[in-house]
Amino acid sequence: MSNTTDVCSKCGGQSIVKGDIDLRTSKDLELIMVVRKDHGVEKKVPLQPKVCGKCGFVDFYVQEPKNLKIGPTDKPIDPDFKQRPILEYDF
Ligand SMILES: [Zn+2]
Repeated sequence: MSNTTDVCSKCGGQSIVKGDIDLRTSKDLELIMVVRKDHGVEKKVPLQPKVCGKCGFVDFYVQEPKNLKIGPTDKPIDPDFKQRPILEYDF
């Protein structure tokens, strides 16, 4: 079993800082979010940071990638947004 989450994607070192690492903005506690801009849809999916203790490289991953899918119930946050058809690669 290869545990790729413990390996730095820059230097390859197995020195990922252990424990929960959080990101926050200075103004509030809102999470860093992934936004699907093509559709004007804002998906509130938190990014999980992965920090290498050796070279300092910060990597991000999404814990629940399936939450990034856009469906018919997702509405653009901008009402004037001109929607393009949903393509296969959106899913
Ligand atoms: Zn590294």
